[in-house]
Amino acid sequence: MVEARRTDDRPPALIWLRDDLRLDDNPALAAAAADGRLAALYVLDDSGKSGRPLGGAARWWLHNSLTSLRAQLEEIGVPLILKRGTPVVIVPQVVEDLGATSVHWTRRYYGWSKPMDASIKQSLIARGIKVESHKGSVLTEPWEIKTGSGGAFKVFTPFKRAAIPSCDAWASLAASIPKVTGFSGNTVASETLADWNLRPKEPDWSAGLADLWTPGEVGAAAKLNAFLANGIAGYKENRNVPSLIGTSRLSPHLRFGEISIRRVWNAVRAKMASTPEIKEHGETFLSELVWREFSTQLVYHFEDFPDQSWKPNFRSFPWISDSRALKAWQKGRTGYPIVDAGMRELYATGWMHNRVRMIVGSFLVKHLLQDWRHGEAWFWDTLVDADIANNAAGWQWVAGSGADAAPFFRIFNPMTQAETFDPKGQYVRHWVPEIARLPNSLIHRPFDAPAPILQSLGITLGETYPRPIIDHATGRARALEALTSIKGMSAGESV
Ligand code: FAD
Repeated sequence: MVEARRTDDRPPALIWLRDDLRLDDNPALAAAAADGRLAALYVLDDSGKSGRPLGGAARWWLHNSLTSLRAQLEEIGVPLILKRGTPVVIVPQVVEDLGATSVHWTRRYYGWSKPMDASIKQSLIARGIKVESHKGSVLTEPWEIKTGSGGAFKVFTPFKRAAIPSCDAWASLAASIPKVTGFSGNTVASETLADWNLRPKEPDWSAGLADLWTPGEVGAAAKLNAFLANGIAGYKENRNVPSLIGTSRLSPHLRFGEISIRRVWNAVRAKMASTPEIKEHGETFLSELVWREFSTQLVYHFEDFPDQSWKPNFRSFPWISDSRALKAWQKGRTGYPIVDAGMRELYATGWMHNRVRMIVGSFLVKHLLQDWRHGEAWFWDTLVDADIANNAAGWQWVAGSGADAAPFFRIFNPMTQAETFDPKGQYVRHWVPEIARLPNSLIHRPFDAPAPILQSLGITLGETYPRPIIDHATGRARALEALTSIKGMSAGESV
């Protein structure tokens, strides 16, 4: 996918890589390679000035993704310069040390990134450097789609209607295939990944992650191919069944930009054209990709969306402070098997099934009345796909405080959710082995099991498996009561 030039004595051009860790269909990288001999830069900023520092699982992913990218770049003679610090200082410094005459990057859409990128751009242009930012991580930039009155969409369905033609239009443009010569001249000293200590040590929960994930461009392409071959045909139904590999598991690859969203979109469209019987499944999958676009436009237009409830009345919601409950949820010890299975899957794999994300989220904010930001923060630390926009949008959807969110009074019943989506209990048995021998009728409600059954299976509630941290009916009633205390809200039906 990358072509090499033969002879080249042009000055160096820099690609500043951020959330676009790929060579293929990376318009910023292709443009930099067209401008000069290519050098690549990645800046790690743990100061919080470049947005929230990465969580533990994402740091593990980054380490492996950069390792893979560096090997790819080395093959084509391009140096990857690693620097830790503030980009406002580092990028101009590297440009100067390298003698680069142009700099390119892929645009990001966060409140903190807009002024930072603008200020770096200005300072480089003032020194006579060519600077270009490029679209490369979304199908529709947040300003491309507007409501009839010119504002941001706050409801998904009309957004999707407006977005799909725009996604198709971007996807129909030719992908960027870079023609590269590496810059082998006076390269700038790079730090090493070992210096960065991105892999967890205490506790090193990441030990099993390497068996599950292949961070990097090759792993991303393999995930897409596997999904097209085996997953997409049943996606519409299977996407809700946590015991199956029924979804693409592309989320961490998309988060780090290891695969172009345009490639994913086009591959699914092509599959739909060649296999008309999967059309409905393909439409559902593309719709999920549009949710990603929707989340991005939300954080772009509402800059504090990741940090506070989007609906103002939720800012005075009477969350309770209960560190014991929060810890039990984090550790997968709530006494509700489907919740515990999800939280254990998350910790062991860095990923959780979407249906289960909704169930554990609802349980935390409604049954346990914990501020959604506690859940968002734990996911931020433990998900390999932790993404500012999708994570905040997911949590605010669950809490009822976001744009086009599930109403707060829709309180998921963990048992009926589990019985619907894990009817034979395979998912729960895998992650909560201490109750695995319970029959299907009791696997999602061990607290209803008659004492002789529990005894015969060696299960002692409160010892070998927790009793429910809160009774479902009590938790539900308490949540609805809390809801009535905020302005403009009333309790309705729960499901
Ligand atoms: P697939 O079903 O194969 O979907 C393909 C892609 O579409 C995903 O990789 C993702 O990029 C996008 N997508 C799918 N569902 C959504 C959605 N609801 N919102 C936005 N984009 C979506 N997703 C993240 O990428 N990062 C997060 O930090 C994140 N946090 C979440 C927190 C909560 C509380 C909830 C309810 C959802 C969250 N999601 C997040 C959305 C969703 O759960 C994941 O994108 C999905 O489970 C990833 O698995 P997949 O790649 O197999 O998805």
